[in-house]
Amino acid sequence: MRVLLVEDDHVLGSAIQAHIDHQGHGVDWVQRLDDATEACATQSYGLILLDLGLPDGRGLDFLKVLRADGDDTPVMITTAQDQIDIRIEGLNAGADDYLIKPFDLGELSARLAAVARRYSTSSDPQTRIGDVVVDLGRRHISQAGRDVILTSREWAVVDTLVRNRGAIVPKSTIEDCLYAFGAEIESNAVEVFVSRIRKKLGRSFVTTSRGLGYSVAGK
Ligand code: CA
Repeated sequence: MRVLLVEDDHVLGSAIQAHIDHQGHGVDWVQRLDDATEACATQSYGLILLDLGLPDGRGLDFLKVLRADGDDTPVMITTAQDQIDIRIEGLNAGADDYLIKPFDLGELSARLAAVARRYSTSSDPQTRIGDVVVDLGRRHISQAGRDVILTSREWAVVDTLVRNRGAIVPKSTIEDCLYAFGAEIESNAVEVFVSRIRKKLGRSFVTTSRGLGYSVAGK
């Protein structure tokens, strides 16, 4: 899942960014609403984490415009403890959930996992592909009954492929999931991760369609 983080506090923003990244989700961090608007116009997100006071306006106004445009990306607003009125206004404006600052990163992880589960197109929590069983919500994977440990980047790739199982996922889509805006992308990064995943789950788990992208077997 790719997350848009809208937060102008540098310390908080970089901590959240690092944490989401560590959970295996791609994250784009912007510090202004105009940058958030631009990001939403060019990229689709699984979740927007929205601070309410930004240098160029109110987060709630951004949210209202987003919803008025028919964008139903899940939005979680982050507010201070004493802003109860704003929290209610946020939920009325179309926010899906809120986090009260200061929040602990464990709570953020739990909320992210819950959104990721809802975001999943599969209603079945477990996906079986050959002898591999993937549980995207719990981030658990096993092969022939044996647990397989993936790094967070490997998870990001597997997660994207499994959510789109049966379809060829373009290399650029996988790159988007792996890296945030501005991060350096080695041109062979996707190949490297696919090769590592194959070492762990077997060659046939991921199919390469040369020049088109990658896929895992459909239902
Ligand atoms: Ca702020």
